[in-house]
Amino acid sequence: MPEVITPARLIDGKAIAEDLRQQVGISAADFAAAVGRKTGLAVVLVGDNPASQVYVRSKIKATEAANMRSVHHVLPTDISQRALEALIGNLNADESIDGILLQLPLPVGLDADAAIARIDPAKDVDGLTEVSAGRLALGRPGLRPCTPRGCVLLAQHALSNLTGAHCVIVGRSILVGKPAAQLFLEQNCTVTIAHSRSRDLAAICRSADILVPAVGRPEMVRGSWIKPGATVIDVGINRITAENGQGRLVGDVAFAEAALVAGAITPVPGGVGPMTIACLLANTLEAARARRSMQ
Ligand code: NDP
Repeated sequence: MPEVITPARLIDGKAIAEDLRQQVGISAADFAAAVGRKTGLAVVLVGDNPASQVYVRSKIKATEAANMRSVHHVLPTDISQRALEALIGNLNADESIDGILLQLPLPVGLDADAAIARIDPAKDVDGLTEVSAGRLALGRPGLRPCTPRGCVLLAQHALSNLTGAHCVIVGRSILVGKPAAQLFLEQNCTVTIAHSRSRDLAAICRSADILVPAVGRPEMVRGSWIKPGATVIDVGINRITAENGQGRLVGDVAFAEAALVAGAITPVPGGVGPMTIACLLANTLEAARARRSMQ
């Protein structure tokens, strides 16, 4: 008898993100009615990086659709570090602003770490300050980085219970890999972090019940690297040129191969990407509520 191949279930990040955005929108309307002002998110964009401009536009649209107020600051590429940090200081002091998002990367010459360090942790909706990272590491409540938070929500959607699952994260960046590992650990997964120096990456990936590649290498993870039935959450977003010469987005996973082996898999686009924005909105509302209860 030939082996029966059941294609993986698609984890529809777009639909799951839409649900989350709607829930946040309803709660944000309640917040506005109770407090007398909308939740405020300030987005700071420095320079004219086209990809960043696209991300910022979609964040602003999503913020307003979720009954929140979006304040957009566009700064010239040659702005000084001091002026950038002064703006962040003003946003920290502005009572109508609940969340501050500094769009990364910053133009060459600006110190992103120093700028992030200026963000009030109570408004750190990207979860990137040392205080937020420390709270995550210590297992204390706090604002969690959006993309990793989205990865956990997608995995929970595919598997009702993550406890005891072996989760392999490929990548150890501060933005994605490290916080993702801590968030899956918080869900009682057994976590392995792999990276560019890991030996026999394919074998490590094959041991995963939940595989989360966050590398930035188009289709690096092959179908043969995946344990049959595993859940695959593909964080990678890579633009490649297809055979017809057109640009196309692919993940870090060779989707067509992987979908024949995995139990459930996220597409690219339409997987982790939409969850990142939905989690940004959820974080902004959380920050607003937490600040309100502190006042
Ligand atoms: P970074 O470049 O900061 O980190 C990449 C990580 O991958 C590093 O830890 C690196 O290891 C590891 N790596 C590189 N090459 C290999 C390899 N051959 N084998 C194993 N590991 C390797 O990237 P980010 O974490 O910022 O982003 C990763 C991907 O996720 C990118 O495609 C990015 O576009 C995407 N992304 C998607 C988001 C979304 O909303 N969907 C949001 C953020 C990012 P080492 O540390 O050893 O160098």
